[in-house]
Amino acid sequence: LTDRGSREPIRTCVACGRKASQKDLLRFALSGDRAFWDLDRRMPGRGAYICPRQECLEALKRDRKKGRIFRRQLGEEAWAELTSIPKD
Ligand SMILES: [Zn+2]
Repeated sequence: LTDRGSREPIRTCVACGRKASQKDLLRFALSGDRAFWDLDRRMPGRGAYICPRQECLEALKRDRKKGRIFRRQLGEEAWAELTSIPKD
């Protein structure tokens, strides 16, 4: 991949719907039955993006329809990893 610095991929925060450049959002992805941060964007499979803000994490946690992100229903424990913003 070459980076010409002009076309930043745009992604949408699953919590607030804000559109932002991919690098300004945090990626998470499903591994097995749990969602994990995927800061290197290397995890295979379906991923999603969220703003690096506690408000968005809280909103995601409260969202009863969040199963739609991965097109499957997951238990609450599946989201445990996503309760705080990862340190880089
Ligand atoms: Zn957001």
